Amino acid sequence: MTTVNAKTDLKGLTLPDLERFLQGKGKERFRATQIFKWIFQQDAHSFEEMTNISKALRLELAETAFISNLEPEAVEEGSDGTRKYLFNLGDGNGVESVLIPIEGRNTLCISSQAGCAMACEFCLTGTFKLTRNLTTAEIVNQIMAVKRDLLKNPPTLPASGGEGREIFDDSDDTDDGLSHSPADIRNIVMMGMGEPLHNLDNVIPAIKIMIDGNGLQLSNRRVTVSTCGLVPEMERLGRELPNVNLAVSLNATTDELRDRIMPVNRKYPIRELLRACKAFPLPGRRKVTFEYVMLGGLNDTLEDAKRLLRLISDIPNKVNLIPFNEHEGCDFKAPTRAAVDAFHKYLIDRNVTVITRDSRGGDISAACGQLKGKLRKG
Ligand code: SAH
Repeated sequence: MTTVNAKTDLKGLTLPDLERFLQGKGKERFRATQIFKWIFQQDAHSFEEMTNISKALRLELAETAFISNLEPEAVEEGSDGTRKYLFNLGDGNGVESVLIPIEGRNTLCISSQAGCAMACEFCLTGTFKLTRNLTTAEIVNQIMAVKRDLLKNPPTLPASGGEGREIFDDSDDTDDGLSHSPADIRNIVMMGMGEPLHNLDNVIPAIKIMIDGNGLQLSNRRVTVSTCGLVPEMERLGRELPNVNLAVSLNATTDELRDRIMPVNRKYPIRELLRACKAFPLPGRRKVTFEYVMLGGLNDTLEDAKRLLRLISDIPNKVNLIPFNEHEGCDFKAPTRAAVDAFHKYLIDRNVTVITRDSRGGDISAACGQLKGKLRKG
């Protein structure tokens, strides 16, 4: 819970947290639901707006609490409709979120940390080290700010994206019966800056707010947490939020290579990581998504595809192939189109669900691994 000048930021409280906060002031429990809805459904920025709350309580709240907010410092739109939002956190840190509209169904990729401590060799965010964890409010505020922007500037529907639509959607997903406007956010993926499992104390309450029926009302089937493989934290996530989707950035099929490109592997090698994936409590027919960044000449052969298949075959799986996005100061190379196609085909032919991610947002540096959250100077 964030307090500034001893005031509590209500944006960072789950509904049970808010109930406790109000109970501490001797208030009735149902008030919490009312206030929670004002904050997350009506996007109230102040207590004055809460017209079904008595004036006395509004004044009392304003003395002890506040509602934080984020406004993007910059919004860039790519030729494919992808939008990148840069948020200034007010303390010299910046983070980015990326909106990917696909046939009117919006996926939002959000950040969980300013910088990252995991130091994966191919990742731009990793070169900035970890500055700090985002608060629960800062995680949720990215979504709320983008929603506000979507209401003002709905995306013009981009051309059908072929298989693109399924990039983040569950392939055997049925519609949830809710109506979808171009301003709705349908999927949240925690694949922006940072390692979400390195900030679970704030990520877990943020997800609870996202999936609360009185909060952001997202379906838990449409929230995906992506990790480089922090095994004990995967176990905690499974215990505390067993219904969210898990994505694991595997990226290599031997410990030798994974040790080199992802230092986390030296602590939790592939065997342990896969054991944790197998133990993760996924409901029903859901699958673990294995992300695999293809690095030209390093992990992109059919031998790699074969080993990958062997590694994941006893876990309900699907595979996201991500051709490496080159960035300055990094010597890795993008794979050839032929290598990507052959790798993809090898897996498809063996009945694996595979999506190869296109470089959406590439022209605005919003593609995977390109986020840097750099604030403009002056
Ligand atoms: N820390 C989390 C989420 C952030 S990274 C994780 O590791 O999963 C999101 C995805 O982008 C990861 O699969 C990562 O391997 C991939 N990625 C990082 N840099 C990349 C780059 N330059 N090109 C392509 N994908 C990259």
